[in-house]
Amino acid sequence: MAEKAEKQLFGTNGVRGIVGRDMTPDLVMRIGMALASMRKGTIAVGRDTRTSGPALCSAAKAGILACGCDVVDVGVLPTPALQYLVKHHFDAGAMITASHNPPEYNGVKIIDADGTEMGDEETIKLEQRIFSEAFEVQGWKSVGSEVYAPHLIDEYIDAIVRSFPAHVGEGMTVVVDPGSGPASHSTPTILSRMGCRVHTVNANMDGTFPGRLPEPSPEGLAALAEMVVKTGAAFGVAHDGDADRAVFIDETGTYVEENVEFALMQRYVCRNRTGFVVTPVSTSRRVEDVCAEHGCQVAYTPVGSIYVARTMLDLAASGRTVLFGGEGNGGLIFPDHQHCRDGGMTAAAMVGLLAAEQSSLSSLVGDLPDYFMIKEKIFTGKPASVVDLVKARFSEERLDATDGIRINRDHAWALLRPSGTEPFMRLLVEARDRQLAEALYGEITDAIGSADQA
Ligand code: MG
Repeated sequence: MAEKAEKQLFGTNGVRGIVGRDMTPDLVMRIGMALASMRKGTIAVGRDTRTSGPALCSAAKAGILACGCDVVDVGVLPTPALQYLVKHHFDAGAMITASHNPPEYNGVKIIDADGTEMGDEETIKLEQRIFSEAFEVQGWKSVGSEVYAPHLIDEYIDAIVRSFPAHVGEGMTVVVDPGSGPASHSTPTILSRMGCRVHTVNANMDGTFPGRLPEPSPEGLAALAEMVVKTGAAFGVAHDGDADRAVFIDETGTYVEENVEFALMQRYVCRNRTGFVVTPVSTSRRVEDVCAEHGCQVAYTPVGSIYVARTMLDLAASGRTVLFGGEGNGGLIFPDHQHCRDGGMTAAAMVGLLAAEQSSLSSLVGDLPDYFMIKEKIFTGKPASVVDLVKARFSEERLDATDGIRINRDHAWALLRPSGTEPFMRLLVEARDRQLAEALYGEITDAIGSADQA
């Protein structure tokens, strides 16, 4: 993807950096100035719970106001809540968040008027404005004005609750672990308004993240798992640092792997309808199995939620029915609600799913086909030549170059792609069993090994 390579500041999901070193008020103000110079009208600004949020949010607002756009400060809220509000009310959005990164990080995600993250082409224009300081700074008559509107998050909560039958969660106990992040009020509110009895862990907003890190790992969710078992809950749900992702613990206290979560939700969404399911080439082949069961089709994209969202919008614009999308990391997109990953919506959908299936989460997981996945990092300074080498070595096979190189076999597949942000490549191998996965993994590492010696 040539476009991807051209971005210098922004990665797959916005700009991120360590606060006070590469993420400074000065940089964020410049991003605000560039955004307001490109977009006219009113820009919504929100943030997650990080300690650096108030300083960086103020900087973003200063830049936006100085360049003539009005600001609506929607306060601390999940990224998908900001996206929902932008789609319905505003001309753009700026979310101050570093998502799943540790507390010392912060960043900015730019949201376009349709509620999706700004695409590559526009992001490159934004960066060019920052580098060339092409800011349209206004005089006293034309600077923007600011309104504070933290109550607007209620519209997002209402929209999710309305997406399901009333009281669908009645009789269901659930536990929410928002990880001290911005969904600390919204997700428990959504689930309790659906009729669930809700318990919480780490539900005080706190940018020092005293309970666990913003990335919801199985180890970090031990307290959640314990609470699920102790309260007899149907499931536990946890969010990353900006709640665009949700991961689950089943009623036995076991972590549900995110590709399994994707397949379960996909099966729920596709059960009565046919259409497209959109996901990156890195997602488990269960997505194809579930599509085959229900007469649906998979559309693969490069890795990155923005490519999934844009492909879903493009397919819909060309008259196709698009049912579901997202990534195998707990970032799921329900297009009837909005075209972005939404952790609150995903938590709500699990209530809908369990009510519809009348079965426990662990037994639904057990019904899915088994796969074995290997995830490795391959350190190399020459990712392009490693991809070429693998292409040459496996040239007789079914190859897919959507992102890096994917090798497709009947009972196994592998994906080798350069990391967007770091000096290594990611190798994913998945097969119906461990032996097949290890065999394909060995073939690929052998091919790469011979490159290093050449
Ligand atoms: Mg996130």
